[in-house]
Amino acid sequence: MSAFYEAMDLYPELVKEFKAVKREFKRGQGCAVCHVKLAQHLMTVDHIIPLSNPDVDPFDMTNWQVLCLTHHREKTKKENEELKRLKIEAAHAAHMQKAGRHS
Ligand SMILES: [Zn+2]
Repeated sequence: MSAFYEAMDLYPELVKEFKAVKREFKRGQGCAVCHVKLAQHLMTVDHIIPLSNPDVDPFDMTNWQVLCLTHHREKTKKENEELKRLKIEAAHAAHMQKAGRHS
């Protein structure tokens, strides 16, 4: 769960509005990857640059795209792997720096 959605818990009215705008955005749209058009509940509005990036404005619709659930799941999985990789790299770099100081 991103910090954005956690913060949104405090503003239920805003969440309702946000969801309504997203619903409108995806109406009649096909998946940006495979162009399939499925029932509304099988389509999702994706943030091209994920919300885990603190610079992303969740309401910036130029960063929105419609994806089918399959491709949304695939993208999320890739993003999580990328985040994990970055964390490992950062931990490794910090470790090397520490080791460097002691040698
Ligand atoms: Zn798709």
